[in-house]
Amino acid sequence: MSSISVLGIFVADISFSGEKIPSIGETILGDSYNIGPGGKGCNQAIAISRLGGKVNFISKLGQDDYGELAISKLKKDNIDTSKIIISDKHQTGVAGILVDKNTGKNAINVIVGAPSTLKTDEIDLNVIKNSQIFLTQLEIPKETTFDCLKFAKDNGVTTILNPAPASTLSKEFFNYIDYFTPNETEAEFYSGIKINNEKDAKLASDKLLKLGIKNIIITLGEKGLFYSDGKEEIFLKAISVKAIDTTGAGDAFNGGFAFSLFQGKKIRECLRLANKVAGLSTTKLGAGDGMPYLKDIV
Ligand code: ADP
Repeated sequence: MSSISVLGIFVADISFSGEKIPSIGETILGDSYNIGPGGKGCNQAIAISRLGGKVNFISKLGQDDYGELAISKLKKDNIDTSKIIISDKHQTGVAGILVDKNTGKNAINVIVGAPSTLKTDEIDLNVIKNSQIFLTQLEIPKETTFDCLKFAKDNGVTTILNPAPASTLSKEFFNYIDYFTPNETEAEFYSGIKINNEKDAKLASDKLLKLGIKNIIITLGEKGLFYSDGKEEIFLKAISVKAIDTTGAGDAFNGGFAFSLFQGKKIRECLRLANKVAGLSTTKLGAGDGMPYLKDIV
């Protein structure tokens, strides 16, 4: 059956908010804490599902309390978890996040855990083959990401790579990417061009297109986005919102984009929806928890 498959990691984001981020050796009494879903793949899957998309999340969890939390959170968001691999040898990923409530600044320590050992032969590739869109990032081992992108393309599935965190890719990688969605920092990493404005984004896109990628979308934070396929170029301003937490904005963008593409919408419409989903996600706290619903989009 047609759907969107997302390969990536889940981590339980455990955030502590207080007057300050404690210094080394210091203990403070904070104000509040939250345990919510995080990890780019997980956030992107949630974004798609909340828009009404049928999504299969391919990942690896440990056989522990946080693994159970992941499954229950994902199921609550109507995400198909049947192909998630459960390992009795590794822990579920966890991120410890310390937030300064006055500035919104944070310090994060991520333990990726089980998905850092995810191998291609553990994955039921039929899930990818049976989907219309395959979306992934660079948080699981690169060889596995490469194999799955190649497999998807070889089977006629449209591929989206959100190349985050920035990491050196072999030339061959670029042959299997239909849509490449870096943010400004990542676009600079892959193109060598520092991006401050639309003109820089165009220069960077031209360079990235030469690598063999078919479509480039550079997200520009509160400035919006730039798209190019070498013929058509689109620049969209970000929507005007009161952003309180921009964590996961890029994930909301990728989820919204994949969903719209799946619906068969034209590129400009896909970008418009992704831009809106991402903008709205910044008005809520949390990465996965901050994803908007279809009803919020209209
Ligand atoms: P990442 O979260 O990966 O660093 P960006 O910061 O580029 O990615 O943000 C992704 C998208 O989120 C942007 O292209 C835009 O659509 C939206 N966005 C981010 N910050 C804001 C903001 N302050 N106001 C409105 N939209 C925003």
